[in-house]
Amino acid sequence: MPPTSTADASSPPGQTLSHHPAQPAHWTEAIPNAEFCANCGQPRTGDFCAACGQRHLKTRLRLWPLIKQVSSMVFNVDRGLFHTFLNLLRRPGGVAKDYIRGKQRPYVNPLTYIFIGAALQMVSLFFNQSFISEGMQDSLNQLQELPPYQKPFADLESKIGDVPTAFSRVYISSLQQGYSYAALIFFCFPFAVLLMAFHSMRGEQFKLGETSVFALFMVGHMLVITAFVTTLSLRLAPAAMQSLVGPLMYFLIAMHGHTGFFQSTWISRLATTCALGLSTIIFVCSILGIFMVSLVVFIAFQSIG
Ligand SMILES: [Zn+2]
Repeated sequence: MPPTSTADASSPPGQTLSHHPAQPAHWTEAIPNAEFCANCGQPRTGDFCAACGQRHLKTRLRLWPLIKQVSSMVFNVDRGLFHTFLNLLRRPGGVAKDYIRGKQRPYVNPLTYIFIGAALQMVSLFFNQSFISEGMQDSLNQLQELPPYQKPFADLESKIGDVPTAFSRVYISSLQQGYSYAALIFFCFPFAVLLMAFHSMRGEQFKLGETSVFALFMVGHMLVITAFVTTLSLRLAPAAMQSLVGPLMYFLIAMHGHTGFFQSTWISRLATTCALGLSTIIFVCSILGIFMVSLVVFIAFQSIG
């Protein structure tokens, strides 16, 4: 606990406040003149704490400087989020390598980056959900017409209403879950484990933390890029191509990242490709799994209701 000003309630009741003429009327007024680091309690010297690196406040917080600080964290080209994004575009493997070697300050934490990728996916899903559910409803409507499916669809319809509408709603919510937590658990994690396993067979020894940094930056970047590219491809590309755009971007980003991080032999590239392919399959299966479970739960609840 840093020794704070003496204006606290623990002062003996008889003692008058006149002993401390500079005593602030409110705790916020003491902020600019604090003698001790607000974070660790060491005496204040200079602009930053020598012990813990905390920047000392010289004025009270106002809204506009706070907004400028946040926007410079996001859009600064020399460090932070935009810097990380630009460098991941140019040299994705180099960013992961810098970070693992200990040059971390210019970049955002890889876990932060994947959460930003997931947030952008949510935004793109919001704009694209009508395209996605229309596509799904069209296929289900065609299926519904086929003789073997007419009876099961009619049975379901008596329980949950229009089947294509209900299914597409559950599917959108599965995609939302897929890009929030499932990408981390069922894509990044298997990717990191498989990269470590496959590359160790080729004599490149990595720690799981190191391949995790690579996987988080790459998958984060895949989410950022596909959030934009998918939004465009759903509107511009022919229907048959749309589902290929995502995996193609994943492959290109992983191969670009491979350069400058792993060995540049073809067998090493094959190891990265296999790790990516398998973890993509695990990710897609996890979304399908979430969809199936959600569907069963949805139908069960509708049947009770
Ligand atoms: Zn400190």
